[in-house]
Amino acid sequence: MRKAIISDIHANLEALKTALDWIKNEGIEQIICLGDIVGYGANPNECVDLIREYCTVVVKGNHDSATTDGEDLYNFNPYAKKAVLWTKEQLSKRNYEYLYYLPLKVEIGDYTFVHSTPKKPERWNYIITEYDATLSFANFEGQACLVGHSHLPGCYGTDESFILEQEFVLTEGVKYIINVGSVGQPRDGDPRLCFGVLDEEKRDFAWIRLEYDKEKTGQRIIESGLPPYLADRLKVGR
Ligand code: ZN
Repeated sequence: MRKAIISDIHANLEALKTALDWIKNEGIEQIICLGDIVGYGANPNECVDLIREYCTVVVKGNHDSATTDGEDLYNFNPYAKKAVLWTKEQLSKRNYEYLYYLPLKVEIGDYTFVHSTPKKPERWNYIITEYDATLSFANFEGQACLVGHSHLPGCYGTDESFILEQEFVLTEGVKYIINVGSVGQPRDGDPRLCFGVLDEEKRDFAWIRLEYDKEKTGQRIIESGLPPYLADRLKVGR
């Protein structure tokens, strides 16, 4: 079975729709979302509605949590904070409750799905360096842990590999931590939306990059009264 794994949508409706259309056209059977459905962008309800409709597994991100759990916002930058407070006012009761009750981590067969880290996901730590990855390998069963959170696609393996190629085959006996990248706010310098496709039979993982209507997303952000910086950064993917 092929699984599309999307993360960090951040209320970017144009990017989410583009990704879902591509996934549908490819005939991919299952869609998994690694959280941060809301925050930063101007269409939180529309994005939560689509995720509810199309994703079979969804875990909670730190923005979903901050918006619904009343979590302290001390580690959010001023732009993120403003977006969280704005999103809180926009969310329907139904979508608010949906985000509130999302699980932090889900394990299916050989794979673990989590927004931040497999150990204590509620601390929202990042796996950015090889050292971070080393600390996490012992904290999940199965072959691979799929994460989001940093918005930086890439993969660390227990064989000390760091994979950035567009596609790779998972080697038997090696464990992996794969960051699927961000649909709604890429930060690796490539403004195209990013997500992953895992082919379970072939043991193959690929990152998909697609153009989407960034101008429209940016316009919606500005019209909503959210910080214009949140529109600008989409143009450069930082
Ligand atoms: Zn995020």
